Amino acid sequence: MNKPHTSCNPGTVYLVGSGPGDPELLTLKAARLVGAADVIVYDHLGAEGVLDLARPDAEKIYAGKEASNHALPQEEINVLLVRLAKQGKRVVRLKGGDPFIFGRGGEEIETLAENGVPFEVVPGVTAASGCGSYAGIPLTHRDHAQICVFATGHLKDGSVNLDWKALARPGQTVVFYMGIGGVSEICSQLMSNGLPANHPAAVIQHGTSRRQRVLTSDLGSLPEAVAASGIKPPALIIIGTVVSMQKRLAWFKP
Ligand code: SAH
Repeated sequence: MNKPHTSCNPGTVYLVGSGPGDPELLTLKAARLVGAADVIVYDHLGAEGVLDLARPDAEKIYAGKEASNHALPQEEINVLLVRLAKQGKRVVRLKGGDPFIFGRGGEEIETLAENGVPFEVVPGVTAASGCGSYAGIPLTHRDHAQICVFATGHLKDGSVNLDWKALARPGQTVVFYMGIGGVSEICSQLMSNGLPANHPAAVIQHGTSRRQRVLTSDLGSLPEAVAASGIKPPALIIIGTVVSMQKRLAWFKP
């Protein structure tokens, strides 16, 4: 895994999803590219354990990306990737989860495309999928949910402005990324748009990792339960009757 691979090309940027936490959820392709890269630009999320696969001489650059603590602003990351590739390096841009799901992967490769830098995108296990599996919450189930929606609880201007009517429909699972700061608004909007206060809801913090915590509750009590638990990001909110299965299906004991 530590030798450069011929299909990891110099001057190319590989936008690689590292999965939600457990390094074993990395794809074989991601592991091979991380092992071959000359330079790895990584984020706060999803890098733990994965960087161990890098060549000992590989350069590792931290780009940050905690909700409000970006080591490098997005613009600078975009420009950095172009510069490294133009130096002829094999560049891996490592992103938590899947690069194309709330990962700004689109923004980063837009700049590469504008500058004529070749790139490839390697999908990863997204947090919804990883957290659902490791918490014992199937995101769809024939008795519960025929639709599964991924939403972000954090908009560019800091507000949560979503189609609440659509999100409050029965028979679906709604997964909120980056929703912890907005949990009170999320729950109260869903209730004012028709979901009952006893509608099941869960929060999963550090899903798939040894630090995983799962909190199950309902829309009426979730904000208080989150505050009492001290749960902080990264955490995912799952809303839907599928959450009622968690007690029976939980299998992962970190
Ligand atoms: N591209 C990523 C999402 C990045 S947005 C993906 O596909 O998963 C960052 C948000 O993802 C966090 O605020 C949190 O809501 C969620 N998240 C990422 N990893 C997580 C984890 N291990 N446990 C819980 N939530 C996680």
